[in-house]
Amino acid sequence: MSRGPIIAIDGPAGAGKSTVARHLAQRFGLLNLESGAMYRAFALKAILNDQDFDDSAALEHLARDTTIWLEPARTGNRVSLDGTDVTERIRDSDVTQGASRVSVHPAIRAWMVDLQRAMGSRGSLVMEGRDIGTVVFPDADVKVFLDASPEARSQRRYEQAAAATPAVAFDHEAVSRELRERDERDRNRPSSPLRPAADAIVIDSTAMSLDEVLSRIEELVRPLCAEAQVP
Ligand code: C5P
Repeated sequence: MSRGPIIAIDGPAGAGKSTVARHLAQRFGLLNLESGAMYRAFALKAILNDQDFDDSAALEHLARDTTIWLEPARTGNRVSLDGTDVTERIRDSDVTQGASRVSVHPAIRAWMVDLQRAMGSRGSLVMEGRDIGTVVFPDADVKVFLDASPEARSQRRYEQAAAATPAVAFDHEAVSRELRERDERDRNRPSSPLRPAADAIVIDSTAMSLDEVLSRIEELVRPLCAEAQVP
């Protein structure tokens, strides 16, 4: 193997991908890259430039003048947009919805896929997203498709949001609606729709604890990391 191992974690929003990826990265000394953060950063760029999320040509033009970078940190990725740290801002609801709309455009996806491949070219990484096992790294060494019921996912998202900003009262129904809309768009877009790769291990985490999910995935990763002599 000329590069280190690549672990692809795909699945819908709220399935627990980020938490799992963060744990795996820490345990096996892997780089952790959140591809969704890049779509979010570009959606923010569109918002800041008053650009229509549906105008493919204008977005493509805007992309030529955009620099996005991910900096892995212990708590997740720091995200830079044109040299400015936008890590917190990209978690806001307008950016979340925007990300799922800008990501339907094939030209934007092609640009992101190139960036993601360049960032991960040396391997020894875990990358999470929607199309990592199917498109970005079809030769990934481990492919996991992490799923959960829509109810479990919206409950988790609601709890995460409430824990992150206790002063804000979140509307449970609005959180579920937003999740459903994103799911619908991510699964039904013609370009790289969300679906498990043919060789992915599908894990339904609805009735599983985080520890159970982690130990299942660690079983798959451990032999590879030993092989690559990752600490
Ligand atoms: O993973 P996250 O929720 O941050 O992703 C935000 C949006 O970016 C997703 O809803 C999806 O539309 C898009 N995305 C994508 N392909 C990826 C990662 C994210 O289309 N690999």
